[in-house]
Amino acid sequence: MAKLPKKIYGILGYPVRHSFSPAMHNAAFQAIGLGAEYKLFEKKPEEVEGFIKSLSAEGIFGLNVTIPYKEKVLSLVTLDKESFYLRQIKAINTVVREGDILKGFNTDIPGFQRHLKENIDPVNKKVALLGAGGAARAVLYVLAKSAAKEISVYDIDKNKTRDILAMIKGLFPAIIINSVDSVEQLDIKNKDLLINATPIGMKETDNCLINEDMMHRNLFVYDLIYNPSETKLLTLAKKAGAKTSNGLKMLLYQGMLSLKHWTGLEAPQDVMWQALQKELNTCRA
Ligand code: NAP
Repeated sequence: MAKLPKKIYGILGYPVRHSFSPAMHNAAFQAIGLGAEYKLFEKKPEEVEGFIKSLSAEGIFGLNVTIPYKEKVLSLVTLDKESFYLRQIKAINTVVREGDILKGFNTDIPGFQRHLKENIDPVNKKVALLGAGGAARAVLYVLAKSAAKEISVYDIDKNKTRDILAMIKGLFPAIIINSVDSVEQLDIKNKDLLINATPIGMKETDNCLINEDMMHRNLFVYDLIYNPSETKLLTLAKKAGAKTSNGLKMLLYQGMLSLKHWTGLEAPQDVMWQALQKELNTCRA
């Protein structure tokens, strides 16, 4: 009998070559004995629509989607009824192909929610959020759904802040949220939770967005960045006695949920976590 071709999965983005997802998912596929391979699909904007339409022909059964295509892919997939709210969030990070039908999901949302709640319950908390891009949309949805008390958002791009506030107010009309024009106006001294959803901190040359005197010991600081594992922001927070987390477990949890969407199987958490840590250590070496 002819050997069936390997099922292909992968991550679509531009650029994607530094993604940890291939290491995490290939380790998982091997552990669960799935004859599958997870690849990088680095596509230019003008190539994305054609690529998505060619999934069936290329034997691709599922995708993760990352910067800058999480919004673009929304118009190319269908949504289950329970995912209709993603039309407002405008961010798809997982695509499942069932025959010729492409379904879109967002696993950043439950991934971030699970990890945040393992660290701090956002109910009734005052929150400062850095960033109003794709990841911030997932963060804000979780905070609003978890009944955070009030949220202040700062992003260098005022148009993005305006759009994200309109999005979240549309979904949660009673939410108390404001946008501010500077990090000082985030009033971090009076906040319980500070979340970084900007890429600032990924590069060694990046300056920290927050000053030391804004930090305090009753703050929880969550940085979505996972490489490096400790950004300057987290170092500063620890110095002030604040509790902290990076985004590596969020990456793990969203990946586990994507794998479940693609295969229907439970993801091997330990194997995926070890693969991520190995990847991080390799980057550092
Ligand atoms: P994004 O869509 O590009 O959003 C980032 C936002 O930060 C943009 O609006 C950007 O504005 C803004 N920004 C850049 N520099 C700034 C500054 N100096 N001050 C204030 N705002 C600034 O990126 P994303 O997809 O949301 O990702 C953000 C970060 O989260 C990345 O580091 C990513 O790796 C991380 N992330 C982690 C996970 C995880 O699983 N742990 C998941 C998703 C994302 P401009 O567009 O004007 O630059």
